[in-house]
Amino acid sequence: MMFYKFFTLKRGFFFICFLFFTVTNGQTIRAQESEFTLGTVCVVNLYERGTNELYRKIFRRIREIEEIMSANRAGTDLDRVNKQAGIMPVHVREELLYVVERALVYAQSSGGAFDPTIGPLVNLWGIGGDAAHIPGEKAIQDALSLVNWRDLIVDRQAGTLFLKRPGMALDLGAIAKGYAADEAARIIKEARIPGAIVDLGGNVFAYGEKEGSKPWRIGIQDPLENRGTFVGILEVRNKTVVTSGVYERFLQVGGKRYHHILSPQTGYPADTGLLSVTIIADRSIDADALATAAFALGYHAGRILVESVGGAAAIFLFENKTIRGTAPAMANFSLYNQGYRILP
Ligand code: AMP
Ligand code: MG
Repeated sequence: MMFYKFFTLKRGFFFICFLFFTVTNGQTIRAQESEFTLGTVCVVNLYERGTNELYRKIFRRIREIEEIMSANRAGTDLDRVNKQAGIMPVHVREELLYVVERALVYAQSSGGAFDPTIGPLVNLWGIGGDAAHIPGEKAIQDALSLVNWRDLIVDRQAGTLFLKRPGMALDLGAIAKGYAADEAARIIKEARIPGAIVDLGGNVFAYGEKEGSKPWRIGIQDPLENRGTFVGILEVRNKTVVTSGVYERFLQVGGKRYHHILSPQTGYPADTGLLSVTIIADRSIDADALATAAFALGYHAGRILVESVGGAAAIFLFENKTIRGTAPAMANFSLYNQGYRILP
């Protein structure tokens, strides 16, 4: 939840723009609107074009996506698929098929480091919830045996999803926010708004340009500091910027942090020496999946994966406070925290 990140940062001071209202042609204009949905704080900034009607339309769409794809709410299409695991295929909305198909593309290209059937393991650890705990070895092995994207069957013709084995569970927490950000950006484009920021809990779409044809300045969270403290700034135009990191959701036990990106190989939080991975891309669904996949894969394989996707770039922050990135990402990145060191 880095929803302060797009505010201007100068010499270490944050200039936070407060909500302001103006009235033009009888319409109330609001620079920003936020709502708690998709399990996070979602903020949309339409600046001087922010009418109530357009905000309503965007948030209605985001809620609609949550009502289809949430793993934590009863009665969503995704929940119905999980309940029928091992029993029968379930008819779902076309857009869930689309998101699942994208998730499967990344499951395959990441060699299974990204896996949308990670549900049993996510539920077991419960990270971010009240029941979060370190599970026993047997429970981890049992949950792991139920994680395998190859046992998720998409039938486009019938419009169904099927999890082959009882106990399997879909979890789209690593990709659905990206899809929602793309949908918000689509509505903004259709409304012919020149520039806007959509921030769905750190999943940012910096749509169009800032006023005066300027690039957007997106802060990259320092994973070791409080929210809103940045390692550096990325300048982008009409791009999405998505970060997966150890700070987003975690369980702290005996000085050790257990974060929410789990390894479908070990059953434990992915331990690849990374603090975070930031992806810059054209589509947020790809950036969201890539950020989680690259984090779970680690730097070398993660970088190869990112570079295989057209228009995608990445910045990797390591536990030893070094930073590496692909050339197009680093060309637009300015380091603010000199405690970190950029490596080639
Ligand atoms: P993100 O913040 O986009 O990296 O997504 C993290 C969320 O995705 C977690 O809270 C889980 O719901 C889910 N998840 C955890 N590990 C994985 C994984 N290896 N592959 C796919 N989804 C995952
Ligand atoms: Mg993700």
